[in-house]
Amino acid sequence: MKVTALLLNIALLAATFCTPLQQSFAQTANNRDLVTREIADSDAFFKEMTKKPRPARDNTARVEALLKRMTLEEKVGQMTQLTMGMFVSGTNQDVKVDEAKLDKAINKYGVGSFLNVSEQALTVDKWHELIGRIQEVSMKTRLKIPNIYGIDSIHGANYVQGATLFPQEIGMAATWNPALMQRGAEITAMETRAAGIPWSFSPVLDIGRQPLWARFWETFGEDPYLASVMGASFVRGLEGQDIADEKHVAASLKHYMGYSLPLNGRDRTPALIPENYLREYVMPPFAAAIKGGAHTVMINSAEINGIPGHANKKILTDMLHGEMKFDGFAVSDWEDIKKLVTFWKVAKDEKEATKMAVMAGIDMSMVPLDYSFADLLIELVKEKQVPMTRIDEAVRRILKVKYDLGLFENPMPSAAARGNFGRPEYAQVSLQAARESLTLLKNNNNLLPLSKNKKVLVTGPTSDSLISLNNGWTWVWQGSEASLYPKDKMTIRQAIEAKVGRKNVEFVQGTSIARPANSPSNSTPTDVDVEVDVKRAVDKAKDSDVVVLCLGEGSYTETPGNITDLTLSETQLKFAEAIMATGKPVVVVLVEGRPRGISRIADNVPAILMAYNPSSEGGAAIADVLFGDYNPNGKLPFTYPRNPNNLILYDHKLFETEETTFGNAANKPQFEFGTGLSYTTYAYSNLKMSQTSIPMNGEITVSVDVKNTGARAGKETVILYLRDEVATLSPAGKRVKRFAKISLEPGQTKTLTFKLTSEDFSFINTDNKPTVEPGDFTVMIGDQSGKFTLQ
Ligand code: BGC
Repeated sequence: MKVTALLLNIALLAATFCTPLQQSFAQTANNRDLVTREIADSDAFFKEMTKKPRPARDNTARVEALLKRMTLEEKVGQMTQLTMGMFVSGTNQDVKVDEAKLDKAINKYGVGSFLNVSEQALTVDKWHELIGRIQEVSMKTRLKIPNIYGIDSIHGANYVQGATLFPQEIGMAATWNPALMQRGAEITAMETRAAGIPWSFSPVLDIGRQPLWARFWETFGEDPYLASVMGASFVRGLEGQDIADEKHVAASLKHYMGYSLPLNGRDRTPALIPENYLREYVMPPFAAAIKGGAHTVMINSAEINGIPGHANKKILTDMLHGEMKFDGFAVSDWEDIKKLVTFWKVAKDEKEATKMAVMAGIDMSMVPLDYSFADLLIELVKEKQVPMTRIDEAVRRILKVKYDLGLFENPMPSAAARGNFGRPEYAQVSLQAARESLTLLKNNNNLLPLSKNKKVLVTGPTSDSLISLNNGWTWVWQGSEASLYPKDKMTIRQAIEAKVGRKNVEFVQGTSIARPANSPSNSTPTDVDVEVDVKRAVDKAKDSDVVVLCLGEGSYTETPGNITDLTLSETQLKFAEAIMATGKPVVVVLVEGRPRGISRIADNVPAILMAYNPSSEGGAAIADVLFGDYNPNGKLPFTYPRNPNNLILYDHKLFETEETTFGNAANKPQFEFGTGLSYTTYAYSNLKMSQTSIPMNGEITVSVDVKNTGARAGKETVILYLRDEVATLSPAGKRVKRFAKISLEPGQTKTLTFKLTSEDFSFINTDNKPTVEPGDFTVMIGDQSGKFTLQ
């Protein structure tokens, strides 16, 4: 508490006397962490995050009473979601409620939900004006049912001007700090609800095992356990203990499920996923968040095994409600019922598609640009093609969430909740998250940290770009509008200048990532790399002591982010080679949403810092790490491939990489999953197991000592892996089962203790059921390992 108060005072003081640049600098100069809770055992934290809150009110009777009074048209209206353009006129900051449009939506069609923005983020005032008017009209309808507004608060309330933004999920995963994830999501919830919006389309719980995919950075990386712990923490942060509390919002888990594994790497294309694999790798984050009480899910826009997500009854109904006991509602993704006709061709027309999707389990359709869904569904019910019981089931689920959110009592955006917007301490949490995400991949001869007196050349396409630091879902869908970014947030170049003084810094752009004017939003690729002043950069490199070379990507998401080659662009690689040819020490900073191939340069640069998309405070955080004001502790939540056609993940089968079998095609990732260096060193010792032979339903306790053997305080992520030595389904070489994130002073040792139970020994077998088999297991933590036998 005291630390928080102190930081607050410093921030307030800074806010009073400093320019924005100095302000952020004052904040970064303070190395204390706001989120100080240690994760000594991920499982204890996970259990807390997945404990379903017990709301004080049971709204079942109210839902049933209301449902009885509703006409078919009113029910279908509740199942209909339209985008902002359907009730406003004007675009961007000039949007205004169009009374005729709103009247049609609410009074004629009874539309129960709206979503999105008109191109760009709006002010809190504007949101209050728009949503306030929607609710005034809704609360004057016959049954006075409030509207539920939904928005993509992907890394903060990114569609509300001035909101606090956090590292994108892939960076949050690299922190291995679920307490920080929870806190970030709490702030996101407060700032979303402060704008009057009660529902966020987040978190993304898709598993990041296809690095080509344009939404890779929206995931928590390749491991389902890490994604489950982080995802459940995100949900708890958003939803808290009671979503009626105006500090919280309803979450939407997406994209349920299997969206992230397109075979060809392109967004919204087919995946082939056997059911046992689906249950082992794809379902766990969703199952965990549902166990924790999440209120809504959004459906996979693509298809698995030839069945589009929106037509998959087994997944949408049997598994979701039957098995996982989900009691919220499922919203479609954008236009996805229509796409059953236009893309997937499983329905001959939209009417057939509507029947198919609703019968499969879609409760609400993000239509979102016309009234076809409502018209067709009413016809289908009248023709008895869709039974009223199915409509009632969907509406019951939707009304429950509206009651749970307290919208019937408090439909209007709350004036008091506005006080939760934009508090100065929020930026500190974002800064801490950015710092903890930064992952030092390479640091030969301790080139880093840099001395503050050296002459530094800062160069490269991502060195002076808030767009790259943030990526998509930032102020606009593609994150691409430079003019909308806050003026007081620093790029890497600005943060380095602020830290070491302009006289020590030379900045030359070198190359840049440009978005061609008028590029249609669905064409690919949208970004191109262009040379700006390569020769000047090379000349300046010769005059400097060290070069900070910032490479990576621009901003993108969804289809516009499709690529045909994971390798970093030729323009950037050639530029890097020209800089390296000067012989000056080069620190590469990677600002990118997926692991672009850098093998041509990686072995020949002494230091590489992976920044992911660290967002608004990312520039400051990177400068802190480069110059030693923060000791890095992020760890890669995915395998960084060396070659674009060698995409072997960390949990591969052992034989897949055996040198004897694959001699000429050895698996050498550029950087292994879990890589992350520090400015101090850690030693692991003393791995102990409570027993070496345990009964089939038994437990084992594993402990290990971790010592800070260097000269600096630091944070360390400790990862426990388990290998099932022999199993009826060929086992993975190792799987993450637990982790810890702890702080250690120089010389300090901590003993960590983890308990493994039969759930940890189990796998999904060919009958698609969890099973435990007797035999040997190996547990690995750092360089320590031990064996035990289940019998
Ligand atoms: C995306 C979703 C998003 C929705 C609403 C879709 O295109 O796939 O993730 O929530 O748009 O913006």
